[in-house]
Amino acid sequence: MKRRDVLTAAGALALTGCASEVSECQSSAGGDKQFNWKMVTSWPPNLPGLGTGATKLAENIEAASGGRIRIKVYAAGELVPAFEVFGAVSEGTVEMGHSAAYYWRGKSEATQFFTAIPFGMNVMEMNAWLYYGGGLELYRELYEPFNLMPFPAGNTGIQMGGWFNREINTLADLKGLKMRIPGLGGEVLRRAGGTPVALPGAEIFTALQTGSIDAAEWNGPYNDLTFGLHKAARYYYYPGWHEPGPVLECIINREAWAGLPADLQTIVAIACSALNDQMTAEYAARNALNLRQIKQEGKVEIRPFPDDVLSELHRITGEVYDELAANDQTVAIILESFSTFKETIGEWTAISQQAYLNTRNL
Ligand code: CA
Repeated sequence: MKRRDVLTAAGALALTGCASEVSECQSSAGGDKQFNWKMVTSWPPNLPGLGTGATKLAENIEAASGGRIRIKVYAAGELVPAFEVFGAVSEGTVEMGHSAAYYWRGKSEATQFFTAIPFGMNVMEMNAWLYYGGGLELYRELYEPFNLMPFPAGNTGIQMGGWFNREINTLADLKGLKMRIPGLGGEVLRRAGGTPVALPGAEIFTALQTGSIDAAEWNGPYNDLTFGLHKAARYYYYPGWHEPGPVLECIINREAWAGLPADLQTIVAIACSALNDQMTAEYAARNALNLRQIKQEGKVEIRPFPDDVLSELHRITGEVYDELAANDQTVAIILESFSTFKETIGEWTAISQQAYLNTRNL
């Protein structure tokens, strides 16, 4: 802005009686109604990436709306426990939540397709499916009976396979393994002879350190170091076959959503989309730095899962999908969309990203 324009703007503010705080000014875009919302999350307080992402989402919505929407963010357990976010927003106890869809498999097995499924799509492919492949429409249809409006709002990118206190050399090594692993990945582990355990992030370190579980997946180097998991296990396995591009979600109570004027709905939608991009970039950068730190400390063995273990897990995953689809019409419809898109985009990924990344190793 030129100096004269700044002064003109300042003069206009003085005439309308607005203070310097934009939020106290009447908006010209869609009325001056003030919305004071609560956002519950499944994340420990200020957890880097997930928790700070939810806070940033609230801040961006408040700033972009000129303060017409104010959102108070609650960490897991502050208002409701980590795994009750869905219910609290659904019932309208609070207006919005930030979490991950696969935590709600108790409501519908189909929710898991909107976070990550084993041997599913990576972050780029997931976004392509959601935004341009019909995924988002299916996501919204699935959540409508629960009185929820979902938005993709973050992605960690591919995760690690997890922390183990025993070596995994064959599929038999998974037998009797008690592992923190949510969603369909947990179901695949169960069929491979292990015992999946659902634990909120904040409880993983103690469970692993005390030996009440033998292994745990949480995320990748960025978030795993936050919890000190590298001090509680000896082996760090890759890749995260069970979570190749997990999407985080922002869920909004449908009445609260319908009560927003169109311009504020647009602001909320764009803020979610922005977080989706930002978080992906943040995780890529921070995972890389923290991986380097783990390597430099040299106390953990970073290992790939053996190919035959992965191919067996892949085979079991196919059985799980077939069974779920046979028992649940909604899963069948979503699986069909997901699988068809994955196959189509897979052909492109193979000769673009995958082919290029292979050349970097030549
Ligand atoms: Ca995970």
